[in-house]
Amino acid sequence: MNGGLFGPPVSRRNNPYSDSGAEGELLQKIIDAHVHLSEREDDALVRFARMNGLRYTLDELLDTMRRYGIMRGLLLSPPLQGAVSLPNDKVITLCTRSGGMLAPVVTVEPNAKDVKAAVKLAEENKKEVKAFKVRLGYVKASAESPVFNGLYDYAESEGLPVLFHTGDTAFSVGDLSRSHPLTLDGLANKREGLTIILCHFGNPWFEDVAELIYKHPNVYADISGLITGSKGYAEKYVAWLAKKISEAIYFVGGAEKIIFGTDYPVTKHSEALDLVRRLDVEEGDKEKILWSNAERVFRL
Ligand SMILES: [Zn+2]
Repeated sequence: MNGGLFGPPVSRRNNPYSDSGAEGELLQKIIDAHVHLSEREDDALVRFARMNGLRYTLDELLDTMRRYGIMRGLLLSPPLQGAVSLPNDKVITLCTRSGGMLAPVVTVEPNAKDVKAAVKLAEENKKEVKAFKVRLGYVKASAESPVFNGLYDYAESEGLPVLFHTGDTAFSVGDLSRSHPLTLDGLANKREGLTIILCHFGNPWFEDVAELIYKHPNVYADISGLITGSKGYAEKYVAWLAKKISEAIYFVGGAEKIIFGTDYPVTKHSEALDLVRRLDVEEGDKEKILWSNAERVFRL
């Protein structure tokens, strides 16, 4: 009997970690480090919610989190139609409504005014804000654009991680030359005190991300948003993903730098958790991925 990956008794039926668990086992902690929500009709992720059969509401999200034993989630601004994203104060309001289950990540756009406003908002909500997010591939700036210097200075001084969108973009007009994970190597070299998190494991550049998290003590990656909708070869694709991430763990020599996330509503909770279950690594490494890495890195 292993004491690790079990869901709480109420969620056992739906929890992919429940198979070998007996009632009364240690409560499995899970942290979802990448969640979106707006409750607005002009939210550009509604398309993904429909594809996944999700209502994409706060009630649905919190119910689903409870069902799978996800104790906390980090809430990131979703893109809205028209190349903007949900204002950060709305993200904070949703987190307040969640009663402590969701904590805000402040999204930062590449202009001086927005960088200043983001830092001010984080300063005013110091207890709540857990990280910043830069939407590489969606905005006309790269990770090393000087416009972000003030943000990085603040994040570094406060020990707040900065999440970067990396890899494939949700829309065909995205700029892959700016969202490629290797564009973070220079920033990680220059700012060794800045905690950098590459979202979506740089999909499909898994090996590049493996090298970055191996090379840099301050670089991490999340595995959110890798599965969406059902297309041809869906089963083989998930098996391929699990193999890629497992191999990255072998290359790095451990799972200390890898963080679980769903990217709700892009990936369903069941599918995101199933991906972790499929990893060909030790149970202890799955626990690190599911909660202890996030707890440490985001100081939750
Ligand atoms: Zn996302």
